[in-house]
This record gives sequence, C-alpha cells and structure tokens, in this order.
Amino acid sequence: MVCPGFIDVHVHVYEWVTNFGVLADDAGVHAGITTVIDQGSTGAWTFGGFKAHVIDKSRTDVRASVSINLAGALKGGMAGDILHNPGIASVEEVVKLKAQHPRDVVSIKCHAESGSFSLWETSVLAMAAQAGRETGMPLYVHTGELFPVLEDRRPAPQAVLPGFLPHLKPGDMLAHIYSCMPDGIMSIHADVPAVVFEAHKRGIHFDIGHGINFSFAIARRMMDKGVFPYTVGSDAHGDFNAFHDDSKLDYSMLGAINKLLALGMPLLDVIGCATWNAARWMGADHEIGALRPGMRADLTLLDRVQGDWVLTDAMQERLTVKERLVPRLVVRAGEVIEPHRRYLRDVCSATPRQAAQAAGSRQ
Ligand SMILES: [Zn+2]
Repeated sequence: MVCPGFIDVHVHVYEWVTNFGVLADDAGVHAGITTVIDQGSTGAWTFGGFKAHVIDKSRTDVRASVSINLAGALKGGMAGDILHNPGIASVEEVVKLKAQHPRDVVSIKCHAESGSFSLWETSVLAMAAQAGRETGMPLYVHTGELFPVLEDRRPAPQAVLPGFLPHLKPGDMLAHIYSCMPDGIMSIHADVPAVVFEAHKRGIHFDIGHGINFSFAIARRMMDKGVFPYTVGSDAHGDFNAFHDDSKLDYSMLGAINKLLALGMPLLDVIGCATWNAARWMGADHEIGALRPGMRADLTLLDRVQGDWVLTDAMQERLTVKERLVPRLVVRAGEVIEPHRRYLRDVCSATPRQAAQAAGSRQ
C-alpha cells in the first residue's frame, strides 16, 4: 500500500536534554513515519537547542508542540510541581517563539490531570489557552493522571475533564482518549460522559496518544458510542524513571494503527487519521498529508503481512490478528529510506540486516 507519509502527532525526541527523549529518526523515518511532532519536550527557553540539534539534523520532518513552561518537560512525569508552576510559564514567550519559528512550532502542549489540578487547578492550562488564542495554534492536552497529586486536594476523577474543557477552543486536541487512567476521558464512568460528546460537537479533536495506558476495553466501549480518534499519536518515549533508556519502548504509531484496525475501524479512516487529519491539524496540509501534484514527496509504503500476530494493551489484554501493516519503505522529500524498524517491537521483529543498520544509527 502506498500512502502519504505518516504523521505522528505525539513523540518525545529531545534526546539527551529530557531524560526520556528518544532519537528522532528512530521514532520517525525508521519507524515508517515521515513527520513527527514532539509534545512539550521543549519550552521557549530550550527551543534553540531543539532546533539546532534535532529539527535541523534529522532526516525526519520534526516539528514542536511547545510547552507553556519555559524550560519544557526536562524530567518526564516526575516533576509536575516544576512543569506546571505558573511562575515559570509564559504566554508572551510562546507568542514570540511562534512568530520567530512559524513553521517549526505548530501547537502548545499542556496537561489536564489530577496532579496539576491539585496544585494550581486550571491556571497553567488557562495560560496555554491564552497563548493558543493569541497565536492561532491548537492546544494538545494530556489527559490521565501523570504527576504527583497533593492528596488532600485530590479532585474527584470525574471532575477533572469538565474542569479543563471550558478553556479549550475548536481545533484543540485531547490526548489519550482510550486511556485506562481513572481521571482520564472515560474516567470511572461506565458509559461515555456527556462532556465528551459536547466537546466533539464543539470541534475539539481526540488523539489516540497510545502511550503506556492504552486499553482495548475502553476503546471498544468508546467506539461503540461513536467516539473515534482524529489522529494516531504514538507517545513514543524512553523510560521516565531512567536516563536515555528506550529498551522498554514496546508500542508505536504502526502498532496503534494495527490496533485500531483490529478493533474494527475502517482502513481508509485510519489512514486518513495518520495522514490528512494530522496535516490539517498542524496547519501543514498545503505540503504534506496527501498525494497530490505540488505536494512534498513524503510517502509511507506498507506491506500487508499475513500470519497470526498478538497485539497487547496496558492491561495485558491480548488480541490476535491475522494480518498486519508493516512499513517497508519511506520516501522523505523524494529520498528513499529503508526503515530499520528498531522501535516497531509491537509490529515486527527486525531482520538481521535491519538490526545491524539500527545498531549503526545509534553510533
Ligand atoms: Zn507524551
């Protein structure tokens, strides 16, 4: 299958600066993806290094969803009281950064979860929303408990999402829609909460944001009620509790695509989420996301591989599929690249040649 180049709207690729950043090309072209958006690793004060060492040096088209925090997310998930402190966030600096780097900076990363809510309620997200309005950029909003919670101020799980939603504007994106976290989008409800449908009606999008909390059971319950993702972010990142360790990364955008297909989402809808929707969301649909004369030659070429393969979720539920999509080649601005697929542990085992190639790319 020949597709427009896949766009992963959620990766963490500020390698060596954030403890959990991975190599952009391993998460990008070598995983069958031509464009990736880093979600919040960089803030206005650390963007210069990201531009010089990641954006400008990668074969993958790398863009940034900039954190409202001036430093970005230096330590993944473990320091919410730093990341969310309104004292080190700045609307003005995000507005300035967008003006200086209109192409590279495509959205604003923020969090709607119990940890930040318990410390500062919605004040930091409100700042991100203001920066979004002033720049016209969409917000990319994490959902599901992530940071340490001040226990005596812990919000009721079902109160978290309704508390944050009024700040969002049409075009903003809620991430991790099929997360099993109790304060996530599905929360502790048996049925999809009404606020989810209201948000959708208002033009707010949903990203699968696969990550470490994706649940088949929640996905089934939400799909049954017509709640589907708009994009297929992987949330590829290294170990939050280690430094520069990607050995446990066992999910990918291609894995997420195969899971959506296994759950019954139509192929063309899934490919649309992986390409056109993402390009539109990031404001790049004039150059990527479709196969049309005049657009950049970014392609993802897939094999339909036959044979039993087991897909697994965060709850260790296993789903056996008979066929899966595996990237064979990527074309990036006209250049043909054979992906080594080191991060596609959930989709395929690398051939010895690909393993050697992957080892070479790490040196
Ligand atoms: Zn993430």
